[in-house]
Amino acid sequence: MSIAANIQKIRAELPESVILVAVSKTRTVEEIQEAYDAGHRVFGENRVQELIAKAAILPSDIQWHLIGHLQSNKVKSLLPFVRLIHSVDSLKLLAVIDREAAKQNKIVSCLLQFHIATEETKFGLNIREALELLGSHDFSLMKNIRLKGVMGMASFSQDTNQVRNEFRSLSQIYQQLKQEFFSGDGGFSVLSMGMSSDYLLAVEEGSNMVRIGTNIFGER
Ligand SMILES: *Cc1c(COP(=O)(O)O)cnc(C)c1O
Repeated sequence: MSIAANIQKIRAELPESVILVAVSKTRTVEEIQEAYDAGHRVFGENRVQELIAKAAILPSDIQWHLIGHLQSNKVKSLLPFVRLIHSVDSLKLLAVIDREAAKQNKIVSCLLQFHIATEETKFGLNIREALELLGSHDFSLMKNIRLKGVMGMASFSQDTNQVRNEFRSLSQIYQQLKQEFFSGDGGFSVLSMGMSSDYLLAVEEGSNMVRIGTNIFGER
């Protein structure tokens, strides 16, 4: 099936309210252009250099999301191009983004990334670290950050129950943070979870932003 047909098929499975991020890491500009020509505008990249290089060439109304780990020394070059950073996993990184956003006269939208999977290698906060971050004086002083929600990746597992439980735990974290720190702030509204192998489960557990690469563009 074509890229356009794949997007159409996935779109038809998703509730209207769920945002589809087409994960375009390792894909060519031509492949992304094909998705763009089919009407798609939201793309996710996991490396800053690749995002910037593609943003420079492709149409300017694309909304670029950074979904991969972000190093402090890349923040400055990323900010002019990025619409949403999914992968904030420390107060230190958030402080760097805030400082650089102020210099560039911007408000930067970010998600807190949580570690919900069993694999050791994945980045992300746990709930204790997140509560500490959100309750900190340093965070309360940040004026150029807009925290919009949370992101997480489930385990690479065939065990649907386990994957479902991991999504459920992230959904509970999202609800808890929303209630404790962002009540009355309609802007805290993003629950980013679900990839090619598990997005339908994620949506069942409340996801409103899915990040899909393989099922749109084929195997990497
Ligand atoms: C690569 C990636 C995805 C998409 O993975 P697919 O299995 O190709 O859909 C989603 N989220 C993150 C953080 C990724 O790195």
